[in-house]
Amino acid sequence: MRFSTRAIHAGQEADPATGATIVPIYQTSTYTQTRVGEHKGFDYSRTVNPTRLALERQLASLEGARYGSAFASGMAATAAVLGLLSAGDHVVVSDDLYGGTYRLFARVLQRYGLEFTYVDMTDLAAVRAAIRPATKLFWIETPSNPLLKLVDIAALASLRRTDQVIAVDNTFATPYFQQPLSLGAQIVVHSTTKYIGGHSDVVGGVAITADAALHDQIRFSQNAVGAVPGPHDAWLTMRGAKTLALRMREHARNAQAIAEFLHAREDVARVYYPGLPSHPQHELARRQMSGFGGMLSFEPAGPAQRALALASGLKYFSLAESLGGVESLICHPARMTHGSIPAGERERRGISDRLLRLSVGIEDVEDLLDDLRAGLAATARQSDSVPPSPV
Ligand SMILES: *Cc1c(COP(=O)(O)O)cnc(C)c1O
Repeated sequence: MRFSTRAIHAGQEADPATGATIVPIYQTSTYTQTRVGEHKGFDYSRTVNPTRLALERQLASLEGARYGSAFASGMAATAAVLGLLSAGDHVVVSDDLYGGTYRLFARVLQRYGLEFTYVDMTDLAAVRAAIRPATKLFWIETPSNPLLKLVDIAALASLRRTDQVIAVDNTFATPYFQQPLSLGAQIVVHSTTKYIGGHSDVVGGVAITADAALHDQIRFSQNAVGAVPGPHDAWLTMRGAKTLALRMREHARNAQAIAEFLHAREDVARVYYPGLPSHPQHELARRQMSGFGGMLSFEPAGPAQRALALASGLKYFSLAESLGGVESLICHPARMTHGSIPAGERERRGISDRLLRLSVGIEDVEDLLDDLRAGLAATARQSDSVPPSPV
């Protein structure tokens, strides 16, 4: 089966009880047993639920793997993967990453005795230098959030010892554009809240692997900790995932057009999008991904005030956290998604107060371009009259 066929058919058998073509929402916490211990494989819904199971099979199949475990959020999936480790273990982390992941590592898991080293993973020598005997996990986001930096997954896999695991947060690229397991990673994590759900109406996460032993450990944590999605959320996510390919093609087409439009403007200082030949890792993007995705960041020229005015001055780009829905969103990472990273650390990583991030939706691109054109024009006038001030 090819990608879209798997999205629509993997895990989606007609319901054995009724023949319902669409997997039903099994809104039940428990299952009646015929005799003590005798049942149809379902005993309690924290442990297993048919709707969730169908979603797990569907998403595993999209990553070319056998095993998926669904969670109540992307962070819960991330925490379950980190749950493979024990106190004293060391993790090498890419330094440009989702703010909530940084918060989980720095403010929760570090207290439990895990150690983290943040490195610019575009630099393989720096990664090599960060590896210790206690290193058990590499945590990678590629493309990264919000600077769209890439990590060469295959090159990193060549550095891996067999007792080490590479986990890739594939939320930005989605399995439609990037298949980390085929590049040498052992685990893929998604916030399914984003492109996989695709409609900004449900929060969820998933951890996927082709390794049966790793899967057993993640499943154990899923049941032992219990951060599972309810059946209705699992069902919404599964419905969204069926159209992933269609949506991703449109997201990427619109994002490419907007990146080129912004890049050509003199009042835009920088554009970060892997699909632009000016992106420092454009060649890697072409090799590692089959498309460049729907996320881009840019810095309008002028004071930070202009970026803030633009963020709330557009018609179709709603000012909101999150990403990956059919509607376009804009955010100011320094004050929103990445606000939990200390200011000095943020600056060091290149997340300036002028930076804006777009989640480009699948509206008609001419409307999105008109919106940005008008917003840039309006704020250009404003930035002339407002004296620059530090934010
Ligand atoms: C949103 C996001 C997460 C966290 O997922 P939640 O579903 O919000 O818990 C993790 N990684 C990336 C790249 C994200 O965008």
